[in-house]
Amino acid sequence: MALRLIRNISSSADLDKLKNERAGPGEAYRPTEVEHIANVVTHGVWVIPSLGAMIFMVYLATTSLHTTVAIIYGLALFALFSMSTAFHLVSYTGWLGDWRIFFHIGDRAIIYIFIASSYTPWLILKHFHSWAEEVLFVVWVMAVCGILYQYIFHERFKWVEIVLYLVIGVCPALVIADMKESSGIFELSLGGLTYVVGVFFFKSDGLIPFAHAIWHCFVFVGALFHYYAVCVHLLLSDQL
Ligand SMILES: [Zn+2]
Repeated sequence: MALRLIRNISSSADLDKLKNERAGPGEAYRPTEVEHIANVVTHGVWVIPSLGAMIFMVYLATTSLHTTVAIIYGLALFALFSMSTAFHLVSYTGWLGDWRIFFHIGDRAIIYIFIASSYTPWLILKHFHSWAEEVLFVVWVMAVCGILYQYIFHERFKWVEIVLYLVIGVCPALVIADMKESSGIFELSLGGLTYVVGVFFFKSDGLIPFAHAIWHCFVFVGALFHYYAVCVHLLLSDQL
């Protein structure tokens, strides 16, 4: 009985009803109603906990530099989940009609801020053989360029967007690997890998039902690895 039910639910005909056709060039994918709801919920549930996560990092901080880093990374986490939730909510409900595009640009732009903010605690608090300050500067300049690109060419060259995310996300990792003392590198790599695998789903709207909500889950898991690493290997390491 249960097996037949699962088979029925997962038959390709049923799965196809859960998603819409793939978007054409220059168009945005239009999620089905259940996909809309999944998109809102998968990031919406983390808005308040991400604020709590920031407060906990500030609580762990023992120096002013720790506090600065905790606030930068904590605000980026909160901004990521709240901007994403706001965009998907506006998308689903049709509220604020003409403003939807700005929420969409904001949703994509915040990813650049989030990537730069994920590297910042490591580049500020860890000791490196070289290049840390330069990379910190470059990663934030790249984030600003990414936001400008998003504002000017929104949805025009979709593959450029992915290439930009990957370049900004992966290149600074080469310098991170040059840390004098490498604790945290495992969780950092695991988080980075989670984001990169998630990009596959980010690009699979209309091919896989709930692809975007699955991408959201990868973002959350990647952020969880990085958050753990910041708490344990940066904020707590001096106290152990
Ligand atoms: Zn989203």
